[in-house]
Amino acid sequence: MSTPKVGVLALQGDVREHFAALSAAGAEVSAVRRPEELADADALVLPGGESTTMSKLAIAFGLMEPLRERVHAGMPAYGSCAGMIMLADKILDPRSGQETVGGIDMIVRRNAFGRQNESFEAPLEVRGVEGGPVEGVFIRAPWVESTGARAEALAVYDGHPVAVRQGRLLATSFHPELTGDHRVHALFVDMVRDALD
Ligand code: GLN
Repeated sequence: MSTPKVGVLALQGDVREHFAALSAAGAEVSAVRRPEELADADALVLPGGESTTMSKLAIAFGLMEPLRERVHAGMPAYGSCAGMIMLADKILDPRSGQETVGGIDMIVRRNAFGRQNESFEAPLEVRGVEGGPVEGVFIRAPWVESTGARAEALAVYDGHPVAVRQGRLLATSFHPELTGDHRVHALFVDMVRDALD
């Protein structure tokens, strides 16, 4: 099997946990902070963290436009939590100055599941992930308010999509990188392999 080169956007957030999960899923992993590092990667993971900060740093590091161009050109990308927000075409309640990379035809609501102390875990059936439910870790998580025709909900919690796929783009409200269960990352690495074939 080929070893795809997957970058992790390393401006802010739980970068290290994604490194571990992607390595376990069979990818060669590298940090992306500069446009040259993005150009070197076959695919990108946008980690959990704080989407407003991530957005501002991406603009400051000259990465926002290159990110949009790569995603538009078909680079596979996966975003968890804040990363999901970054991949949404629209945020319902953006903070001032907050922009997204976009790519997935969906509207997300930030912090929809409540505050930090209302974080929770719940088992989730995720379409495309075999072997029983995934433990969904939700930390000040967004939910998907609505999806366009091209975006498919892979998992739903409390009536809201919490995992969405559109072509080569994948996003989850929850953090599989924090659980030691690498099946969602394996699904993404398979998507990357398919795109490279
Ligand atoms: N609430 C955060 C945001 O708006 C996301 C939280 C997370 O990534 N765990 O960016």
